Amino acid sequence: MKNELRKKSLAIRKKLNTEELSKKILFNLSLLDEYRNSNNILCYYPLKYEVNTLNLLKNNDKVWYLPRVKGNELEICRYEPENLSCGSFNIMEPKGEIIKDLTTIDMIIVPAVAADKNGYRLGWGKGYYDRFIFSLKNKPIIVFLIYDKLLFDTVYPDSYDMKCDILISDKEILRIEC
Ligand code: ADP
Ligand code: MG
Repeated sequence: MKNELRKKSLAIRKKLNTEELSKKILFNLSLLDEYRNSNNILCYYPLKYEVNTLNLLKNNDKVWYLPRVKGNELEICRYEPENLSCGSFNIMEPKGEIIKDLTTIDMIIVPAVAADKNGYRLGWGKGYYDRFIFSLKNKPIIVFLIYDKLLFDTVYPDSYDMKCDILISDKEILRIEC
């Protein structure tokens, strides 16, 4: 089920005006008090067709962090625009020092291939963010960014799938009950 929906979603996504929709999604994010009040934010470096977060990373009012794939896990580093390299899955990754104490992270912005109104997401199918979020000792605000056209009634979540607190599309901001 998940795999079929993932394939279908990737095909839909390729036909969207992802740049224009990304701007709307980032605008909706900027309206959130939770975003304004977050200083340390773990974001992601966008792949083609993913919600484009590059304009976020330019906001010098925040301290930005990016993940780096290490085996089955994500390592977290400060985002420094001049200190990136192309890593696993062709994603741009930070080259800096690993941040061991993640309790300072206020918010995590997670990419999604598809999502549902209960706050679940489909990623690339490797579960990196599920494992990472599950492993955190504190609970930052989890935000999923998704194109409205890829927001479904259900993405067939498994027991290990982690929910978001806030889901942001180009059409709406959904606060998810826990
Ligand atoms: P994605 O979230 O990237 O769409 P899936 O939800 O399909 O991918 O998860 C991919 C794999 O990750 C699953 O096979 C699952 O076994 C593994 N996984 C997810 N969360 C955990 C966890 N907390 N501990 C161990 N394995 C996990
Ligand atoms: Mg998952």
